[in-house]
Amino acid sequence: MKELRIIFRTIEKYRMVEEGDVIYVAVSGGKDSAVALFGLCEYVKRSKINARIKAFHIDLSGGKAENVLKVVKKQAEICSAELRVFDVRKELGEDFVKKIRNSRRGVCSVCGVIKRYFMNRIPREEGAKKLATGHCANDFILFFMKNLVGKKFDWIAKFKPFLEGEHTKLLAKIRPLFFTTEIETEKICKEHGIPFVKAEKCSLLEELKCEHGKTTLLLKNCIKEIDVKNREFLRSLVSGIEKLVNEIKQSQKESEFRECRICGEPTSSETCALCKIFKGEKQPNFL
Ligand code: AMP
Ligand code: ZN
Repeated sequence: MKELRIIFRTIEKYRMVEEGDVIYVAVSGGKDSAVALFGLCEYVKRSKINARIKAFHIDLSGGKAENVLKVVKKQAEICSAELRVFDVRKELGEDFVKKIRNSRRGVCSVCGVIKRYFMNRIPREEGAKKLATGHCANDFILFFMKNLVGKKFDWIAKFKPFLEGEHTKLLAKIRPLFFTTEIETEKICKEHGIPFVKAEKCSLLEELKCEHGKTTLLLKNCIKEIDVKNREFLRSLVSGIEKLVNEIKQSQKESEFRECRICGEPTSSETCALCKIFKGEKQPNFL
Protein backbone atom coordinates (compact mmCIF):
# COMPACT_ATOMS: atom_id res chain seq x y z
CA MET A 1 0.00 0.00 0.00
CA LYS A 2 1.56 3.27 -1.21
CA GLU A 3 0.23 5.36 1.68
CA LEU A 4 1.74 3.09 4.32
CA ARG A 5 5.05 2.97 2.44
CA ILE A 6 5.31 6.78 2.64
CA ILE A 7 4.97 6.54 6.43
CA PHE A 8 7.58 3.75 6.68
CA ARG A 9 9.98 5.78 4.53
CA THR A 10 9.51 8.82 6.78
CA ILE A 11 10.12 6.75 9.93
CA GLU A 12 13.23 5.25 8.36
CA LYS A 13 14.70 8.39 6.79
CA TYR A 14 14.53 10.39 10.02
CA ARG A 15 15.51 7.43 12.25
CA MET A 16 12.38 7.88 14.30
CA VAL A 17 12.61 4.39 15.82
CA GLU A 18 15.81 2.96 17.23
CA GLU A 19 16.74 -0.13 19.25
CA GLY A 20 15.55 0.07 22.86
CA ASP A 21 13.24 3.04 22.26
CA VAL A 22 10.14 3.63 24.36
CA ILE A 23 7.82 5.78 22.25
CA TYR A 24 4.49 7.15 23.41
CA VAL A 25 2.02 7.94 20.65
CA ALA A 26 -0.46 10.67 21.55
CA VAL A 27 -3.84 9.44 20.35
CA SER A 28 -6.89 11.67 20.31
CA GLY A 29 -9.37 9.18 18.87
CA GLY A 30 -9.10 10.85 15.46
CA LYS A 31 -7.93 9.22 12.26
CA ASP A 32 -4.50 10.89 12.01
CA SER A 33 -3.12 9.87 15.40
CA ALA A 34 -4.63 6.39 14.93
CA VAL A 35 -2.62 6.05 11.73
CA ALA A 36 0.54 7.37 13.41
CA LEU A 37 0.12 4.59 15.99
CA PHE A 38 -0.68 1.97 13.36
CA GLY A 39 2.25 3.01 11.15
CA LEU A 40 4.76 2.94 14.01
CA CYS A 41 3.53 -0.42 15.31
CA GLU A 42 3.59 -1.98 11.84
CA TYR A 43 7.06 -0.59 11.22
CA VAL A 44 8.39 -2.07 14.47
CA LYS A 45 6.79 -5.45 13.71
CA ARG A 46 8.12 -5.59 10.15
CA SER A 47 11.62 -4.31 10.89
CA LYS A 48 11.87 -6.44 14.05
CA ILE A 49 13.41 -3.53 15.96
CA ASN A 50 13.31 -3.94 19.71
CA ALA A 51 11.20 -0.88 20.57
CA ARG A 52 8.08 -0.33 22.67
CA ILE A 53 5.25 1.69 21.20
CA LYS A 54 2.57 2.78 23.65
CA ALA A 55 -0.68 4.64 22.96
CA PHE A 56 -1.26 7.65 25.22
CA HIS A 57 -4.63 9.37 25.53
CA ILE A 58 -5.36 12.51 27.52
CA ASP A 59 -8.93 12.49 28.75
CA LEU A 60 -10.25 15.99 29.32
CA SER A 61 -13.83 14.86 29.76
CA GLY A 62 -13.49 13.14 33.14
CA GLY A 63 -14.59 9.84 31.59
CA LYS A 64 -17.72 11.37 30.05
CA ALA A 65 -16.52 11.02 26.46
CA GLU A 66 -17.20 7.28 26.54
CA ASN A 67 -17.36 7.00 22.79
CA VAL A 68 -13.89 8.52 22.35
CA LEU A 69 -12.47 6.24 25.04
CA LYS A 70 -14.02 3.20 23.37
CA VAL A 71 -12.57 4.16 19.99
CA VAL A 72 -9.11 4.82 21.42
CA LYS A 73 -9.17 1.40 23.15
CA LYS A 74 -10.10 -0.29 19.90
CA GLN A 75 -7.35 1.57 18.00
CA ALA A 76 -4.74 0.39 20.49
CA GLU A 77 -6.13 -3.15 20.41
CA ILE A 78 -5.86 -3.32 16.60
CA CYS A 79 -2.19 -2.34 16.89
CA SER A 80 -1.60 -4.68 19.85
CA ALA A 81 -0.32 -1.64 21.71
CA GLU A 82 -0.68 -0.94 25.40
CA LEU A 83 -2.92 2.05 26.16
CA ARG A 84 -2.38 4.62 28.88
CA VAL A 85 -5.30 6.94 29.59
CA PHE A 86 -4.49 10.03 31.60
CA ASP A 87 -7.37 11.76 33.42
CA VAL A 88 -6.66 15.50 33.45
CA ARG A 89 -9.47 16.31 35.88
CA LYS A 90 -7.98 14.05 38.53
CA GLU A 91 -4.77 16.08 38.25
CA LEU A 92 -6.12 19.59 37.88
CA GLY A 93 -9.23 19.25 40.01
CA GLU A 94 -12.91 19.24 39.11
CA ASP A 95 -13.07 23.05 38.95
CA PHE A 96 -10.74 23.08 35.98
CA VAL A 97 -13.57 23.97 33.57
CA LYS A 98 -14.28 27.05 35.67
CA LYS A 99 -10.62 28.01 35.56
CA ILE A 100 -10.54 27.64 31.78
CA ARG A 101 -13.62 29.81 31.51
CA ASN A 102 -11.98 32.46 33.70
CA SER A 103 -8.73 32.37 31.79
CA ARG A 104 -7.95 35.22 29.42
CA ARG A 105 -6.82 32.68 26.83
CA GLY A 106 -9.36 31.14 24.48
CA VAL A 107 -10.63 27.60 25.14
CA CYS A 108 -8.68 26.06 22.24
CA SER A 109 -5.52 27.74 23.43
CA VAL A 110 -5.91 26.42 27.01
CA CYS A 111 -6.74 22.97 25.66
CA GLY A 112 -3.48 23.13 23.67
CA VAL A 113 -1.52 24.17 26.78
CA ILE A 114 -2.95 21.25 28.79
CA LYS A 115 -2.25 18.70 26.06
CA ARG A 116 1.28 19.91 25.33
CA TYR A 117 2.12 19.92 29.05
CA PHE A 118 0.91 16.41 29.90
CA MET A 119 1.95 14.91 26.56
CA ASN A 120 5.49 15.78 27.54
CA ARG A 121 5.42 15.27 31.31
CA ILE A 122 3.63 11.94 31.72
CA PRO A 123 5.43 9.92 29.01
CA ARG A 124 8.76 11.32 30.23
CA GLU A 125 8.00 10.36 33.84
CA GLU A 126 7.09 6.88 32.61
CA GLY A 127 10.39 6.38 30.79
CA ALA A 128 9.72 7.53 27.22
CA LYS A 129 12.33 9.47 25.29
CA LYS A 130 10.16 10.25 22.28
CA LEU A 131 6.61 11.38 21.71
CA ALA A 132 4.84 10.75 18.40
CA THR A 133 1.87 12.81 17.31
CA GLY A 134 -0.58 12.51 14.45
CA HIS A 135 0.19 15.91 12.91
CA CYS A 136 0.04 15.44 9.16
CA ALA A 137 1.01 17.44 6.04
CA ASN A 138 -2.30 19.36 6.10
CA ASP A 139 -1.58 20.50 9.68
CA PHE A 140 1.97 21.66 8.96
CA ILE A 141 0.87 23.61 5.87
CA LEU A 142 -1.90 25.28 7.88
CA PHE A 143 0.44 26.09 10.82
CA PHE A 144 3.04 27.37 8.37
CA MET A 145 0.62 29.83 6.80
CA LYS A 146 -0.74 30.99 10.15
CA ASN A 147 2.70 31.49 11.65
CA LEU A 148 3.95 33.24 8.52
CA VAL A 149 1.12 35.73 8.87
CA GLY A 150 1.89 36.06 12.61
CA LYS A 151 5.66 36.35 11.81
CA LYS A 152 6.32 33.61 14.36
CA PHE A 153 9.43 32.24 12.69
CA ASP A 154 10.67 30.53 15.86
CA TRP A 155 7.57 28.31 15.71
CA ILE A 156 8.08 27.62 12.01
CA ALA A 157 11.60 26.43 12.87
CA LYS A 158 10.00 23.52 14.77
CA PHE A 159 8.13 22.17 11.73
CA LYS A 160 10.18 19.10 11.01
CA PRO A 161 9.59 15.37 10.99
CA PHE A 162 11.99 14.85 13.91
CA LEU A 163 12.36 17.58 16.53
CA GLU A 164 15.04 16.93 19.14
CA GLY A 165 14.14 17.75 22.75
CA GLU A 166 15.33 21.33 23.29
CA HIS A 167 15.71 20.78 27.04
CA THR A 168 16.60 17.71 29.10
CA LYS A 169 12.97 17.58 30.27
CA LEU A 170 11.51 17.95 26.76
CA LEU A 171 10.88 14.78 24.80
CA ALA A 172 11.95 14.47 21.18
CA LYS A 173 8.88 14.85 18.95
CA ILE A 174 8.39 12.55 16.03
CA ARG A 175 5.87 13.13 13.25
CA PRO A 176 5.56 10.00 11.10
CA LEU A 177 2.77 11.64 9.06
CA PHE A 178 4.77 14.72 8.03
CA PHE A 179 4.47 13.75 4.34
CA THR A 180 1.03 12.10 4.63
CA THR A 181 -2.23 13.91 3.91
CA GLU A 182 -5.61 13.65 5.63
CA ILE A 183 -7.23 11.80 2.74
CA GLU A 184 -4.49 9.23 2.99
CA THR A 185 -4.96 8.69 6.73
CA GLU A 186 -8.67 8.19 6.14
CA LYS A 187 -7.90 5.68 3.41
CA ILE A 188 -5.54 3.72 5.69
CA CYS A 189 -8.18 3.64 8.46
CA LYS A 190 -10.82 2.33 6.08
CA GLU A 191 -8.53 -0.26 4.57
CA HIS A 192 -7.42 -1.63 7.95
CA GLY A 193 -10.75 -1.36 9.74
CA ILE A 194 -9.47 1.25 12.20
CA PRO A 195 -12.34 3.16 13.85
CA PHE A 196 -12.02 6.88 14.53
CA VAL A 197 -14.02 9.83 15.83
CA LYS A 198 -14.49 13.02 13.85
CA ALA A 199 -11.56 15.33 14.65
CA GLU A 200 -13.82 18.37 14.74
CA LYS A 201 -15.28 17.29 18.07
CA CYS A 202 -13.68 18.96 21.06
CA SER A 203 -12.75 16.70 23.95
CA LEU A 204 -13.99 19.29 26.44
CA LEU A 205 -17.41 18.53 25.02
CA GLU A 206 -20.47 20.63 25.71
CA GLU A 207 -19.07 22.27 28.81
CA LEU A 208 -17.12 24.80 26.80
CA LYS A 209 -17.59 26.12 23.30
CA CYS A 210 -14.54 25.49 21.21
CA GLU A 211 -14.52 26.71 17.64
CA HIS A 212 -11.95 27.33 14.96
CA GLY A 213 -11.66 30.88 13.68
CA LYS A 214 -13.16 31.67 10.27
CA THR A 215 -9.80 32.11 8.56
CA THR A 216 -8.48 28.84 9.99
CA LEU A 217 -11.53 27.03 8.64
CA LEU A 218 -11.13 28.68 5.25
CA LEU A 219 -7.47 27.67 5.04
CA LYS A 220 -8.26 24.15 6.27
CA ASN A 221 -10.87 23.71 3.55
CA CYS A 222 -8.57 25.09 0.84
CA ILE A 223 -5.86 22.60 1.85
CA LYS A 224 -8.47 19.83 1.87
CA GLU A 225 -9.51 20.74 -1.66
CA ILE A 226 -5.92 20.61 -2.88
CA ASP A 227 -5.61 17.23 -1.13
CA VAL A 228 -8.51 15.99 -3.29
CA LYS A 229 -7.36 17.55 -6.55
CA ASN A 230 -3.57 17.60 -6.43
CA ARG A 231 -2.16 15.65 -3.51
CA GLU A 232 1.42 15.66 -4.79
CA PHE A 233 1.38 19.46 -4.69
CA LEU A 234 0.70 19.28 -0.92
CA ARG A 235 3.55 16.80 -0.59
CA SER A 236 5.92 19.17 -2.47
CA LEU A 237 4.76 22.07 -0.31
CA VAL A 238 5.45 20.30 2.95
CA SER A 239 8.78 19.09 1.60
CA GLY A 240 9.61 22.73 0.73
CA ILE A 241 8.72 23.77 4.29
CA GLU A 242 11.08 21.13 5.65
CA LYS A 243 13.95 22.39 3.44
CA LEU A 244 13.24 26.00 4.43
CA VAL A 245 13.25 25.12 8.12
CA ASN A 246 16.67 23.51 7.70
CA GLU A 247 17.92 26.71 6.05
CA ILE A 248 16.63 29.08 8.71
CA LYS A 249 17.70 26.83 11.57
CA GLN A 250 21.21 28.29 11.76
CA SER A 251 20.10 31.91 12.10
CA GLN A 252 17.52 30.95 14.70
CA LYS A 253 18.42 31.96 18.23
CA GLU A 254 18.26 28.95 20.53
CA SER A 255 15.19 29.52 22.66
CA GLU A 256 16.13 29.72 26.27
CA PHE A 257 14.36 27.25 28.46
CA ARG A 258 14.25 27.27 32.21
CA GLU A 259 12.27 25.31 34.76
CA CYS A 260 8.91 26.56 36.00
CA ARG A 261 9.22 27.97 39.52
CA ILE A 262 6.06 26.09 40.55
CA CYS A 263 6.13 22.70 38.88
CA GLY A 264 9.65 22.43 37.49
CA GLU A 265 8.57 21.70 33.92
CA PRO A 266 10.46 23.41 31.07
CA THR A 267 9.18 26.83 30.05
CA SER A 268 10.44 30.00 28.40
CA SER A 269 9.22 32.23 31.25
CA GLU A 270 9.36 32.10 35.03
CA THR A 271 6.03 30.27 35.39
CA CYS A 272 4.81 27.77 32.80
CA ALA A 273 1.60 28.35 30.86
CA LEU A 274 -0.25 25.59 32.73
CA CYS A 275 0.60 26.92 36.19
CA LYS A 276 -0.31 30.45 35.10
CA ILE A 277 -3.83 29.25 34.30
CA PHE A 278 -4.39 26.72 37.04
CA LYS A 279 -2.41 27.82 40.06
CA GLY A 280 -5.10 30.31 41.31
CA GLU A 281 -5.04 31.21 45.04
CA LYS A 282 -5.17 27.53 45.88
CA GLN A 283 -2.28 25.40 44.66
CA PRO A 284 -3.41 22.83 42.08
CA ASN A 285 -3.55 19.34 43.55
CA PHE A 286 -0.97 17.95 41.14
CA LEU A 287 1.80 19.63 43.13
P1 AMP B 1 -5.04 18.54 17.46
O1 AMP B 1 -4.30 19.69 18.03
O2 AMP B 1 -6.29 18.21 18.16
O3 AMP B 1 -5.15 18.61 15.98
O4 AMP B 1 -4.11 17.27 17.75
C1 AMP B 1 -2.82 17.17 17.27
C2 AMP B 1 -2.19 15.90 17.77
O5 AMP B 1 -2.14 15.94 19.19
C3 AMP B 1 -2.97 14.65 17.44
O6 AMP B 1 -2.60 14.14 16.19
C4 AMP B 1 -2.59 13.73 18.56
O7 AMP B 1 -1.34 13.11 18.30
C5 AMP B 1 -2.42 14.67 19.73
N1 AMP B 1 -3.65 14.77 20.56
C6 AMP B 1 -4.70 15.60 20.41
N2 AMP B 1 -5.62 15.41 21.36
C7 AMP B 1 -5.15 14.44 22.17
C8 AMP B 1 -5.63 13.78 23.35
N3 AMP B 1 -6.79 14.10 23.89
N4 AMP B 1 -4.87 12.81 23.90
C9 AMP B 1 -3.68 12.48 23.36
N5 AMP B 1 -3.18 13.06 22.26
C10 AMP B 1 -3.89 14.02 21.66
ZN1 ZN C 1 4.49 24.97 35.90
